[in-house]
Amino acid sequence: MRFTLFRCALSVLAMAATPALAAEEPVLNLYSARHYQTDEALYANFTKATGIKINRIEAGDDQLLERVKSEGAGSPADLLLIVDAARLAQARDAGLFSPVHSTLLENRIPPALRDPEGHWFGFSYRARVIVYNRMTVNPVDVASYDALGDPRNKGKVCTRSGSHPYNLSLVAAKLAHDGAAKTHTWANNVVANFARTPRGGDTDQIKAVAAGECGVALTNTYYYVRLLRSAKPEDREVVAKAGLVWPDQAGHGTHLNIAGGGVLKNAPHRGSAVRFLEYLASDEAQAYFANGNNEWPVVRSAARLNAELESLGTFKADPLPIATLGRNTPEAQRIVDRAGWK
Ligand code: FE
Repeated sequence: MRFTLFRCALSVLAMAATPALAAEEPVLNLYSARHYQTDEALYANFTKATGIKINRIEAGDDQLLERVKSEGAGSPADLLLIVDAARLAQARDAGLFSPVHSTLLENRIPPALRDPEGHWFGFSYRARVIVYNRMTVNPVDVASYDALGDPRNKGKVCTRSGSHPYNLSLVAAKLAHDGAAKTHTWANNVVANFARTPRGGDTDQIKAVAAGECGVALTNTYYYVRLLRSAKPEDREVVAKAGLVWPDQAGHGTHLNIAGGGVLKNAPHRGSAVRFLEYLASDEAQAYFANGNNEWPVVRSAARLNAELESLGTFKADPLPIATLGRNTPEAQRIVDRAGWK
């Protein structure tokens, strides 16, 4: 009895002591694949509101993923911000995240744009669209992702590598809608229509379409909007020659992807990391975050600051949960490999 009382007393003491002992330094170690000018205000406002200082490590998405993995239990990183469902799924599958349960995040971020278990949350979204040469291609001939494999588009299709996460996520979405056999046939047909061996990024594809080297290509929306907003006349000339279509408006809707992040398993400042995620879901931060890369905010009430992005108009989006894409990525990789979509 006395022993039990003593243990009770000890645990009360421990509980009382816990907040003081665990009180975090007001610091956040952020590993971010973002590097936009508008982000300075994003970070400064957080520090002003909370007193939490942000130490930023900025690098490419894949570099950051590798870094967190190799740092292991000793990693100083609290939060990882990266893009694409395929990469977020890779980080989750590698056990890098520690789930967050936040009513605020769950209320503000649509369920399809976050991990159901709280490993990661989307903070902005982009669409994977088709661009076509206005002089040589009729947009009705390239109105769907399937059309990229249609024989009438033989020798016209340009894309970046099939193994790039943006394309793997698109193939993952097709897998969810159409199954493995149809998706495999589609990938083969797309490869058979290539105008050239895949090379470069999405902007290179838009430029090749404008130059007439390709009739049609895939791109994320923000690359197109970046050219629309460019101060360089030659960039605006590119978008004048390359039209944009929202694929699959008569089907499942245009494929979406996200930029997002999660709290890391070994985070030394978990409290700060959760506060930062919640801050990113505020109307103010959402506007900055999305606009930094010409994307849409995931929170519907956030202001949309980007006139060029809004000039693209509205479209029917594929409602498929982003988490589904991540689960299909390994199969998507096998399909692009077998199709020779290098
Ligand atoms: Fe990108």
